[in-house]
Amino acid sequence: MDCIFCKIASGQIPAKKVYENEKVLAFDDINPLTPAHTLVIPREHIVDLNDINSGNSAIMSDIFLAVKEVVKIKDVDESGYRILINNGRDAHQEVFHLHVHIFGGRDLGPMIKKG
Ligand code: 5GP
Ligand code: ZN
Repeated sequence: MDCIFCKIASGQIPAKKVYENEKVLAFDDINPLTPAHTLVIPREHIVDLNDINSGNSAIMSDIFLAVKEVVKIKDVDESGYRILINNGRDAHQEVFHLHVHIFGGRDLGPMIKKG
């Protein structure tokens, strides 16, 4: 499958790994928007949140437990951080393998641009 995050998960494409376990992988975004900008992905190819169902939803728990580890490693657990999932066209999702962005390391400003 021609999925860039599957290739990162399998080691075919290098990435700056921050944390990993059997279910998930966390690596720094190639184009960081904040001093800390890490992505957490399931190893399994899941397209987006619409692809989550009662059979695979346990992965969301694995992802958020990994978020907790990443924010400690990045030393933003106390200063604060923002979690973001872009889902679909209006959210400008670019990579169609579910991923959670973790932003931190500076004041993150307002929640979202007013439209
Ligand atoms: P999306 O808009 O889909 O939520 O964001 C995808 C993110 O993946 C972007 O922030 C982009 O910089 C990041 N990204 C895309 N390709 C690569 C890559 O090959 N390696 C890494 N580390 N990040 C990537
Ligand atoms: Zn994938």
